[in-house]
Order: sequence, then structure tokens, then C-alpha cells
Amino acid sequence: MQTAKRFSELPLTKAMLDNLSNLGYLEMTEIQAASIPVMLEQQDLIAQAKTGSGKTAAFGIGILSKLNPSYFATQALVVCPTRELAEQVSNELRRLARAIGNVKILTLCGGTPMRPQIASLEHGAHIVVGTPGRLLDHIGRNSLNLATVQTLVLDEADRMVDMGFFEDIVGIVAACSPRRQTLLFSATYPNDMRNASASFLRNPVEVKVESQH
Ligand code: ADP
Ligand code: MG
Repeated sequence: MQTAKRFSELPLTKAMLDNLSNLGYLEMTEIQAASIPVMLEQQDLIAQAKTGSGKTAAFGIGILSKLNPSYFATQALVVCPTRELAEQVSNELRRLARAIGNVKILTLCGGTPMRPQIASLEHGAHIVVGTPGRLLDHIGRNSLNLATVQTLVLDEADRMVDMGFFEDIVGIVAACSPRRQTLLFSATYPNDMRNASASFLRNPVEVKVESQH
């Protein structure tokens, strides 16, 4: 068996490593060990691992390692299938972001009024997390500007496709900067999704973890 890899083996800042250890994250899960180095090289990524394997912290570290807190623009966008998942992702990102100071994270999901979200967007955010329909709604109204996005994450991509969100995702991707890094996280990666996502990934590295961790 391979020995477990620790976060301290990665080229992360001391503040990030201290915060991870405060969160009780010392050893990387398998998908973290496989995917974080790829993200740190700024490559596009398809990461496949089952639920509970620590995918949120994986892309969270990818996002935060290049986020500039003193540049107040939407530098990262995370698209999730449901409101509950978007809220969980925002909470995990907030815990991880303690390492780099004042990072504003905004959650944009359906089922809540538009107007307060538009007001929050006028104030801006470093990271936006949301569900496809509502994100597309904001894009259509010009209340969400994604031209500054450097990292785009499609979380639980297989579920989003199953739920019929593929066309919405195409619209969201088109609104993001073409210079972005795109990260696709999924529990499964069926062939139809492989074909469909080829248009918005640039030479992606594929990592897949089949086992328990
Ligand atoms: P996934 O998105 O793969 O379903 P999550 O990102 O929700 O998984 O993570 C599952 C749980 O594992 C969370 O409670 C998270 O806090 C915890 N976790 C993530 N990474 C680590 C780690 N390196 N060490 C310990 N716990 C971790
Ligand atoms: Mg997840």
C-alpha cells in the first residue's frame, strides 16, 4: 500500500497549511492527492471519485491557491446541482478561505428572491457558488459578470446532467473568460458527458479514484 500523502508535501503557503491542520486535514484523501497537483499546474481537470471523498476541499484548495483577495472581482465560479450542495460548498470554502483573509463568497440559488441577490452582486464577491438556472438568470440580466473568472468548477457534473442542466451549463461556460481553468468533479463520467464536455475543457487531465477514500 502507498503511504498517505500529507498536505505539507504540497507547495501551499504556511497560512493555508496551518488552516488545513486546524480543520483536522493532515493527510490528503486519494482524490485530493491525485487532483491538487494537477490544479496547481493550472491544467484543466476531470476528477472522478465517489461521494464523501473530499472533492470540495480539493477544488477549494485549487481555487484559493490562486485567488487574489485584494482584487475584488469574481475570480472563481462553482456550479452545483442543488441549493443544499451549493450551501455546503460555500461553507467549506469559507472554512478553507480563513487562511487568506477577507474572501467574500456569495451563494446564488433559485427559490429565493432575485432582488437581494442582485443587491449583493452590486457589492461584488471573490467567489460565486450557485445552481445553474439562477446563475443563468443573473447572466441574462447582466447582474453577474463572469469575464474575470479564472477558475470554473462544475461540481457533481453527472448529477447536473441527469437533472437536465446541460444546456444551462453551456450558457454559463460561454459567459466565463476563455482564459479560465476548468475543473469538472463528478462521481461518474459517462461517455455522453465526455463528448459533451469536450468543448469546454482544454486538454484536461483525468484522475479517477475507485477505492474507499
Ligand atoms: P465529496 O464532495 O467528495 O462528496 P466532501 O467534500 O463533502 O466530499 O467531503 C466529505 C467529508 O470529508 C467532509 O466532512 C470534509 O470535511 C471531510 N474531509 C475532506 N478532506 C479531508 C481530509 N483531507 N482529511 C479529513 N477530512 C476531510
Ligand atoms: Mg461534493
